[in-house]
Amino acid sequence: MSETKTAGEHRFEANVSQILDIVIHSLYSHPEIFVRELISNAADAIDKLRVRSLTEHDLAGGDQDYKIELIPDVEGQTLTIRDNGIGMSEDELVENLGTIAHSGSKKFLEALKEKDAGENVDLIGQFGVGFYSAFLVANRVEVTSCAAGSKQGSRWSSEAQGTYSVELAEGEVSRGTSIKLFLKEDKKEFLEEFRLRTLVRQYSDFLQHPILLEIEREEGEGDDKKKEKKFERLNQGTALWKRPKGEITDEQYEEFYKHVTHDFEAPLARNHFTVEGTQLFTGLLFLPKNPPFDLFQPSKRRGVRLYVKRVFIMDDCEELIPEWLRFVRGIVDSDDLPLNVSRELLQEDRIVKTIRKVVTRKVLESMEELAKDREDDYKAFWQHFGAVVKEGLHYDPDHKEALAKLVRYDSSKEDGTSLEAYVERMPEDQKAIYYVIAPDRKTAESSPHIEALLKKDYEVLYMTDAVDEWAVTGMPEFAEKPLVSAMKANLNLEGEDGKEDEKSEHEVDPDMESFKDRIQRVLEEDIAEVKVSNRLTDSPACLVTPEGGLHSHIERMVRARQQGMPATKRIFEINPDHPIIQRMRSLHLEPDHAEDADDWVRMLHDQALLAEGSPISDPAGFARRMSSLMTKVLGSDESGSEASA
Ligand code: ADP
Repeated sequence: MSETKTAGEHRFEANVSQILDIVIHSLYSHPEIFVRELISNAADAIDKLRVRSLTEHDLAGGDQDYKIELIPDVEGQTLTIRDNGIGMSEDELVENLGTIAHSGSKKFLEALKEKDAGENVDLIGQFGVGFYSAFLVANRVEVTSCAAGSKQGSRWSSEAQGTYSVELAEGEVSRGTSIKLFLKEDKKEFLEEFRLRTLVRQYSDFLQHPILLEIEREEGEGDDKKKEKKFERLNQGTALWKRPKGEITDEQYEEFYKHVTHDFEAPLARNHFTVEGTQLFTGLLFLPKNPPFDLFQPSKRRGVRLYVKRVFIMDDCEELIPEWLRFVRGIVDSDDLPLNVSRELLQEDRIVKTIRKVVTRKVLESMEELAKDREDDYKAFWQHFGAVVKEGLHYDPDHKEALAKLVRYDSSKEDGTSLEAYVERMPEDQKAIYYVIAPDRKTAESSPHIEALLKKDYEVLYMTDAVDEWAVTGMPEFAEKPLVSAMKANLNLEGEDGKEDEKSEHEVDPDMESFKDRIQRVLEEDIAEVKVSNRLTDSPACLVTPEGGLHSHIERMVRARQQGMPATKRIFEINPDHPIIQRMRSLHLEPDHAEDADDWVRMLHDQALLAEGSPISDPAGFARRMSSLMTKVLGSDESGSEASA
């Protein structure tokens, strides 16, 4: 036994036990994926060592013949997967295999609770819990590892029954990691040469490091016959992206994608290209089917893998792709960057800037193709990633035109419509593309702001994503038609005769004027001005944003971040033809009911806020006024029945 602080028996963190259970239960019908997962980890460990040894020259020592070995032992019923990569110290074994190192795993468990059991498979891939797949085929797993630069090896072992143990390994342990799987009785097939060959071909053929299988062959003749063990290489090992496209099958692309992403599902689309000329680089980019759990946490973004002349440089290279394409996965391999390129260098590099431009264009091309040829797939894609792509409208003016063709919105006429289709449907007299901003579809649909538009049979886009309001500012027009918010003050709706059909001020009604003055006085603190509306047909009132102001939803978000920022006062529009407004105007003229009239005005304002999905500023006051008015209404009804009795 060793004397180190971590040696001995440990309980898994509760989360690990849970994840282990989930992995075993949701993947039991695909036990063979352990081959991919463990080989993938081994390849990553070798890449890590290689990258670090570029700066720490002694780290890899004499052993730079990087390889991954599979060693089946039929008698012992074990399969060992060994690499000479970076290795793990005792602490790292505990940290990586016994606790949940990545914060993602907590989210993983939360996400699982919201999903059906059958959907777990996709999730596991997204969270990278690959090592635990070893327990799909093994009762017991022993990991012996020696970190690069250290002489002391350690051993981690577990039977997945809630505990694991760690100890120092006796004797000399070579650098890297060796994972010994004590196979379950019904998983002996994974000792067979043919089975392992097929699996490695299928899953890991493109990995550049040699994957070697130890095989036993009879050598010699007659009495000299003896069994000999030797290693045979299983994978071709040419970087997949450097092979001619025509020679790569869909399955090979798919396996490569799964290796890079740990996704268990096939990608939605891919783009494999080589750029030649002043610069030489190759890209192999994928659009995933499902979004990662952290899609809306830009700080956790991923980016693509960077290779230089087929040598792995780094994962998650964010400089190669704009933030609004953070869900794109894949690799870029440049012939022009130096091998020892650092993150700092990347940020300034001219070559990187060119690559990023091309990569962005290529991804947009993939999306265009998808939209054109596989409309349903594109709709599904847009549902998952549209809210992220729309950020590009705001941040990337260079791609605005391409993006405007790719955006989709639900509308009063069609779900997921393109702007092109919207414009085609526009009646002749309609001059603008109209939209309404709301927290959700239902609120958008019943928004008072769009009543007049719908009456005129004008289509309204429902912008319900949080990014919509500022994204749409990057797209002031499409096909020479301005995009106009139905919630802004100047909704110049032209009538059949070309004149504004506003119930305009020319028929000035002095009673209405004095009623407007009352509203202005009562709501002094809340609104900028009162106006007679030209957009309302069924609702009594609504609030509109003055020119240049922020819509209330986005303003709330901005104000939540910037304490002390004053709220924009909005314009209160009233519908003079509405019975409520007409009744209130009469009430306003009766001196006995002046106080009630003030309460009704406040109610009207609160009701306008609620109708657009905004919170009201004084819910207690609202409730009090509501009860008092209800009592009055119900009371007067009672007295009415008394009178008639
Ligand atoms: P992931 O690979 O997605 O991070 P895993 O559960 O497969 O998740 O592995 C957890 C961690 O254990 C890895 O991130 C890595 O740090 C470490 N690890 C796993 N296998 C090896 C290996 N063969 N060599 C070195 N480190 C490894």
